[in-house]
Amino acid sequence: MKILKFGGSSVAHPDRIARIIEILSGYYTRGEKFCVVFSAFGGVTDELLKMAENAETGDEQWRTQLTALEKRHTDSVKELTTGKRREQLLSDVRANHEALANILQGIWLVREASQRTLDYVQSFGERNSCLIIAGALQEAGVNATYLDARQIVLTDRVFGSANVLHAETHDNIVQHFRSSSAVQVVTGFIGACASGLTTTLGRGGSDYTASILAAALSAECVEIWTDVDGVLTADPRAVSQAFTIPRLTYNEAMEMSHFGAKVIYPPTLQPAMNAGIPLYIRNTFNPEFPGTLVSRDADPQSGAIKGISSIGSVALLTLEGSGLFGVVGTSGRLFETLAQAEINVILITQGSSEHNITFAVAPSRAEEAKHRIEQAFAYELANGQIQPLKIETQLSVVAIIGQQMRYRPGIAGQMFQALGRNHINCV
Ligand code: ADP
Ligand code: ASP
Ligand code: MG
Repeated sequence: MKILKFGGSSVAHPDRIARIIEILSGYYTRGEKFCVVFSAFGGVTDELLKMAENAETGDEQWRTQLTALEKRHTDSVKELTTGKRREQLLSDVRANHEALANILQGIWLVREASQRTLDYVQSFGERNSCLIIAGALQEAGVNATYLDARQIVLTDRVFGSANVLHAETHDNIVQHFRSSSAVQVVTGFIGACASGLTTTLGRGGSDYTASILAAALSAECVEIWTDVDGVLTADPRAVSQAFTIPRLTYNEAMEMSHFGAKVIYPPTLQPAMNAGIPLYIRNTFNPEFPGTLVSRDADPQSGAIKGISSIGSVALLTLEGSGLFGVVGTSGRLFETLAQAEINVILITQGSSEHNITFAVAPSRAEEAKHRIEQAFAYELANGQIQPLKIETQLSVVAIIGQQMRYRPGIAGQMFQALGRNHINCV
């Protein structure tokens, strides 16, 4: 069994979907066992969020945006299917948009969209795309069936970035696949909590859905089909000379994705790595190209540096003061406070004098982080043992990645020289 995942850009237009159907029909006629995960059509998740935001602020534009979205989905049904199947799909897609219209109308009336509501709104992206693609596969003679991941992916209630409950999800997947032999067309990105409410796994989360399925089904591999030739040495949107990295270890891929290589959603690597399942990153628009293989084994031929990742915008926060020196548990308190506020920490450094702890968070959470920490350390602050938290913005993180780097001296020096030559300041 292979798990194939196609991202939003791969299914942005019906003609692109038709090409994917061709690739999948090939797998099917060769008798290969596979399961497919799809994201929403390209740009749809952003559009859904925009509609909800407009409804929340009382902007009537959400109505025309919704009409345009419905047209996009129904046009795809018309291009990809015929006859009775088309009629059935058109009616299902209409029902989906009616439900969505009711929710948006509710948001508009109360002028309020909680993260919980936004998760439900976003789920319509993947639910429509997979419904339509399952129909298109059936049209091409593939015994395919739509699977709403809310039936199998059980999560906690952290809406917007829910944590998967792996043991229960594993059992649900095994049970579901045991009872159905058809090709499952699974909605990426979404899940449900125990009470049945819709959750999402974080932006870009469809990759993660594929990897969770692969681990539960002991799949032979996961293929992540996207719009670039695999994992490249740097983001091709920032560095035009970037080229494909043929092989990466799980750890290297984890570092690349954690530090900004959006091509793989970071949590994706864990289930595949635990189960020892290789991942291939392939280009839908260049299907002959081998792309990148991510597996346990390092590439003996490769150099020390595999790639460079970057996060365009981060805020750096520094907690500083004599009260930190030699006090046991300070960093524990600091990061516990951030964890309770569900603020993700991108990186951490501590001065060797223990005089300060610096960490990076998303700029949108910086003020809240400062406020929470100053509350938690109110006593030390009042006594002058620590200073008010310092925030620095307009910074980026750049990471050089390569497992072999640790055996090679001089790389850090080379990096600082390159930055210096280009008048880039390091903090
Ligand atoms: P999909 O819709 O297929 O999930 P994404 O937009 O999530 O695609 O991820 C693919 C994008 O990731 C590429 O178009 C590219 O701009 C970006 N990207 C950032 N860093 C890298 C990298 N190192 N290698 C490849 N792509 C990268
Ligand atoms: N459609 C979701 C998003 O745009 C999930 C994904 O693309 O993987 O974030
Ligand atoms: Mg993605």
